[in-house]
Amino acid sequence: MLTQNLGYPRIGTQRQLKKACESYWSGKIGLDELHQVARTIREENWQTQLKAGIDLIPCNDFSYYDQVLDMSMLLGVIPPRYAPVSGVKGNNEIDLYFAMARGYQRDGLDITAMEMTKWMDTNYHYIVPEFTAKQSFKIHSEKVFNEYTAAVKTLGDKAKPVLVGPVSYLLAGKEKEQGFERIDLIKDLVPVYVEIINRLQQQGARWIQLDEPSLALDLSKRDKEAFEYAYRTIASQVSGVKLLVATYFEALLDNTQVAVNLPVAALHIDLVRAPEQLDEVLALIPANLQLSLGVIDGRNVWKNDYEKSLAQINKALAKLGSDRVMIAPSCSLLHSPIDLDQETAIDAGIKNWMAFAKQKLNEVAELKQITEGNQALLDANKKAIESRRTSKKVHKQEVKDRVAAITDADATRKSAFPVRQQLHRERFNLPAFPTTTIGSFPQTDDIRQLRAKFKKGDLTPEQYEKAIEDATVEVIRWQEELGIDVLVHGEFERNDMVEYFGEQLDGFLFSKNGWVQSYGSRCVKPPVIYGDVSRPQDMTIRWITFAAKQTSKLMKGMLTGPVTILQWSFVRDDQPRDITTNQIALAIRDEVVALEKAGIGIVQIDEAAIREGLPLRKAKRPHYLDWAVKAFRVTASGVEDKTQIHTHMCYSEFNDIIEHIAAMDADVITIETSRSQMELLHAFAHFEYPNEIGPGVYDIHSPRVPSKEEMVSLLIKAADLLPAQNLWVNPDCGLKTRKWPETKAALENMVQAAKEARELISVASAI
Ligand code: GLN
Ligand code: ZN
Repeated sequence: MLTQNLGYPRIGTQRQLKKACESYWSGKIGLDELHQVARTIREENWQTQLKAGIDLIPCNDFSYYDQVLDMSMLLGVIPPRYAPVSGVKGNNEIDLYFAMARGYQRDGLDITAMEMTKWMDTNYHYIVPEFTAKQSFKIHSEKVFNEYTAAVKTLGDKAKPVLVGPVSYLLAGKEKEQGFERIDLIKDLVPVYVEIINRLQQQGARWIQLDEPSLALDLSKRDKEAFEYAYRTIASQVSGVKLLVATYFEALLDNTQVAVNLPVAALHIDLVRAPEQLDEVLALIPANLQLSLGVIDGRNVWKNDYEKSLAQINKALAKLGSDRVMIAPSCSLLHSPIDLDQETAIDAGIKNWMAFAKQKLNEVAELKQITEGNQALLDANKKAIESRRTSKKVHKQEVKDRVAAITDADATRKSAFPVRQQLHRERFNLPAFPTTTIGSFPQTDDIRQLRAKFKKGDLTPEQYEKAIEDATVEVIRWQEELGIDVLVHGEFERNDMVEYFGEQLDGFLFSKNGWVQSYGSRCVKPPVIYGDVSRPQDMTIRWITFAAKQTSKLMKGMLTGPVTILQWSFVRDDQPRDITTNQIALAIRDEVVALEKAGIGIVQIDEAAIREGLPLRKAKRPHYLDWAVKAFRVTASGVEDKTQIHTHMCYSEFNDIIEHIAAMDADVITIETSRSQMELLHAFAHFEYPNEIGPGVYDIHSPRVPSKEEMVSLLIKAADLLPAQNLWVNPDCGLKTRKWPETKAALENMVQAAKEARELISVASAI
């Protein structure tokens, strides 16, 4: 029985790649130094996997920025707008590559970056390939061949080059002109894959991994035919090398027939996300196909339950025999933090339940040893799993009871929206087109340094709090001068909208070095939810009430919603996601109630991540949306009618989920609309969205200052589509990443735009 790995984190154990890339971009280091850092990371990764005893070890899983962009370089899918970059004297292939990822603004050129989007349902973002109707493909980059040559020196015939497979590569991209469908490019694309595979075979490769995660998506008939065509053609034109098709993140379901019948040597399936698919795959698998069992969770931080995995492995062994079974992580370990051994501050008991990428490799190897009779390894694992299952650190009966007792009434405001709206109008007496912001104000270096110094102990709590208070007062004065109607406190005390709450809730822990690549050089360090979540004390009252006292204007309380906290954390794998979400929902609900008691009349609960939690398969979406929306409602419904609940979402596609957004029943929703020129408001208009809404009129993703006129025209558009008396005026999102000068200028214009809208647009008075 072989063991294998599908991919390993490439940022380096100390995020060396991030630092090297950023230094290269700013001109602090040269190309040689950048390449050297990359070589060292690759070599270290190979050694780690070798030492763990893995039989098939990936190469070309390394990437300077993104593996899909690597494929575009390999296949010569380079949008023509980048041609001048290669013409600049002194530029190398990698400068073209980074230009595609990040845009290019020097040497008299100003070229936009390629689009970036989420890789399936992960928080990893890839660079979207751009296709034209006459798209040509040809080998353009030598990276995969060079990396294979280097890998062989360390790994010998264990080296397994990894490529994104042809169908998933096409599906991951986008048509840049009309009149064709990208999947139809398969006929032109396949010959290049044949050429690449043949070259690798000639270099000595024995296995090649082709990632086809789209086999886990809803596929059209044409997509399925493309799979059959591509692999049939490849199989007929290559020999002497075994192809492994890797699927992950979901069950194959209706694609099972297609997947198991591809003429390849092996198929990898994800048995963590979809354990139930093993039976069907085993029932349909043709003779000779090898099956790689993804039993170790590549996307989470928990120790594998060996007994569970062994049950699956043994089932496969019984049917296929050891020659046809492989053991592997469920997907590339790119999505895991690297090394748990580096974490010295995590409670030893809890640490014993965890595994990062390096530890997961050992788990793969250990599972194999257990099938060969090593009982001691199994016993040790059973002990750890049992201790987690029964630990008081994890299990709090009161929390479980409270979640079990949630009723529909808990998820429903006392009165319907029109009644609440009337109360709010009387209570707040806001003008038409009230102005507000989404919460954060620029986090200057000064503010960041305050936090860093405080963490290090260079500032006393008193000094730190005083400095944050000063910043808060300043931003309140400034909003007053400007004439904003509903103020915010600026969120200066918060590092991150999830971490801030995680640090104060029971059931969360934080790693020191658990970084995961999000895109390019950007890494995130998600909190870990290990136990039942509860709220031992108030979390935001101190800052919101301090802020409210500084002004006679309305001060909005600011919270992060349960689904967003869940989505941006490593979550428990020992209970369903909806249960964890409900625990968080109850904790945040208590905070909302506490804010109301403290006299705060308006509370915003950010649910930035509801949409990204959508399951990959359409059939699973209604169930997810039901519990996600209900969790929000639980959070929002503990208060009296007089309290106005806002929510915020920073994206723009609502068409397919609008009824669920409406079902959240927030009194006010603020959304991102400025770049789409209010286009997405059509979804709300068509649905006749009943509650109040603040379509963003200021694109906060760019330093550009929108003019008053621009914003007025957006408001006119919005008022054409929705009842003017329901409209708010606000930016697309928080202003944390912006600088002060542009923020001030833009918000000044925004307030003026609201004033003008009040004169230009007639608003139905009372309801
Ligand atoms: N309240 C948060 C802020 O203003 C919201 C951020 C977000 O939606 N991503 O920063
Ligand atoms: Zn946002």
